Amino acid sequence: MIKALIFDMDNTLYELAEKYNDILIPGNKEDFFKTVKINKSEIKLLAELKNKYILFLITTGVKSWQEEKIDRFKLRPFFKKIFIDTGKGKKPYFEDILKMYKKEELAVVGDNIKSEIKDANELGITTIRILRGMKSKSVPFSSEEKPDYTIKNLKGLKKLINGQNIYKPIKIK
Ligand SMILES: [Mg+2]
Repeated sequence: MIKALIFDMDNTLYELAEKYNDILIPGNKEDFFKTVKINKSEIKLLAELKNKYILFLITTGVKSWQEEKIDRFKLRPFFKKIFIDTGKGKKPYFEDILKMYKKEELAVVGDNIKSEIKDANELGITTIRILRGMKSKSVPFSSEEKPDYTIKNLKGLKKLINGQNIYKPIKIK
């Protein structure tokens, strides 16, 4: 049974404007915040999910910049723990969470098949790809980049996990 959900932030909890897709380059802050399309009803879903699951956030980028996004979007209260990956990849953070939960109890939600989806697949964690932003067009290069499930938005996530077992399917070789 899934007990905890691990979220990516950029292009997962909200969609970035195309010119800000390179998350390692912060750009003009005021302009950035004007361009983000935050969907309040989707963010509300996080509150619902928080009643049923433990939520974690792992986001990649410049630390001060990611912290500012988390604060401005008021995301902090939803998550038990927030990790900011400044470029070494998400695997070490998944491994930290795996000290608290079994892999069968975890699912990762993110847009990047070369980051969170690949890393989580390699660790046997259930993966849910959200089709948002520029990376929604990427095509998996290897089986590790293929998500177990695909959704279009956070509402799709609610539908997917409500009353369903979303264990990682056993891969037949
Ligand atoms: Mg992302």
